[in-house]
Amino acid sequence: MLLGAIADDFTGATDLANSLTRRGMPCVQLNGLPGPDEAAGPEAAQVIALKTRSIAAQEAVAQSLAALDWLRARGCETVFFKICSTFDSTDRGNIGPVAEALLAALGGDIAVACPAAPENGRTVYQGHLFVGDRLLSETGMRDHPLTPMTDSDLVRVLGRQSQGKVGLVPHHRVAVGAAAVAKAVAGLRETGHRFAIVDAIDEADLAVIAEGAVDLPLLVGGSGLATGLPALFRRQGRLSAETASAPPVVEGAAAVLSGSCSQATNAQVAAMAAARPSYRLDPAALARDEAAVDEALDWAAGHLEGGPILLYATAPPDEVAAIQAALGRERAGALVERAMAALATGLLRLGVRRLVVAGGETSGAVVSALGLRRLAIGPEIAPGVPWTFSGGPPPIALVLKSGNFGGPNFFAEAFEVLS
Ligand code: ADP
Repeated sequence: MLLGAIADDFTGATDLANSLTRRGMPCVQLNGLPGPDEAAGPEAAQVIALKTRSIAAQEAVAQSLAALDWLRARGCETVFFKICSTFDSTDRGNIGPVAEALLAALGGDIAVACPAAPENGRTVYQGHLFVGDRLLSETGMRDHPLTPMTDSDLVRVLGRQSQGKVGLVPHHRVAVGAAAVAKAVAGLRETGHRFAIVDAIDEADLAVIAEGAVDLPLLVGGSGLATGLPALFRRQGRLSAETASAPPVVEGAAAVLSGSCSQATNAQVAAMAAARPSYRLDPAALARDEAAVDEALDWAAGHLEGGPILLYATAPPDEVAAIQAALGRERAGALVERAMAALATGLLRLGVRRLVVAGGETSGAVVSALGLRRLAIGPEIAPGVPWTFSGGPPPIALVLKSGNFGGPNFFAEAFEVLS
């Protein structure tokens, strides 16, 4: 196993696995902590998907360390902590505490951290994270239901979450090349820093960073930071060229479950609701009425035959704020996630075999409820979002879409890719 990754959410795991697979590095996604006796697959890269982004930091650390133990016991050579390209976290964690714990367990004293994913418009300059031409804090991420991002300065953000010092490797050092990155990181290590945020504005920068940092015990980043690794491993003679196998054909009813409240997902839900049968879940109804999920499933049963259907809790920021004021932020999120998990189980019973899930936390809840352990990566729908396949039984085609990813017609495009 050349690369072992620990992802802090399920859509992020898929994004990373997709990124590696597209670049010729065979990769499997393992959902949840694998069992102690579970063998590693034959793939050169194995990504463990955890749901640790928004839980208590202590628990996130414990799960991540257990994942690290599993990977290391199976000979993993490079360890990657996969975080969101929008650095989703709060001042209590969990990026800093988890990364520090992993670093300590690996016996290292500094790690690089770079969430840039230029393909999806996420770049880092002077330590500041941009989404397109906006600072992170000026995007919809400032209204995220669980991890609102109101500061774009990653040195400051990670600094608030970490015990150790956080420094910056600025873009003009990255532009010089891999050796300059390695030297800058070594300089930060000598001055007692534990993390180096590294600027990256395009894929070439990320390839340079990967080469300059691959010998460090821990890489912390978005899927972008991994894009340079397959080519690097091939140049080093550690990875052979691979031919992709054809994706399996999965037949059965089709549905979308959307629990993301991002700007992108709000637009995608509006587009699909205008064209296809759709059902809105109201968190207030979920709180007071135990039958709310069954009612949604009854509705689904009557509409599945005609093609893809949509069930969503997705709402704009003002509605999310109102429901959070009434129910509490965590309770509202947990209610919706539980409902999504129950809906997914019910939809499978109704014959759904092609399922698109929107939202990272939502995907974690759904995949855990369905008990899908291993996912193979299939064709890409939009940057960072592929179809994945669970061998079953029954075989299921599944999309785990990060809230911010995909264009307005993503849901329709997803089913077109399979047809
Ligand atoms: P993203 O990928 O956009 O971050 P997530 O699924 O990770 O999406 O997070 C969205 C969170 O918001 C989930 O916890 C979900 O349960 C919650 N949520 C969904 N709809 C609503 C709503 N209408 N009101 C409040 N919270 C909601």
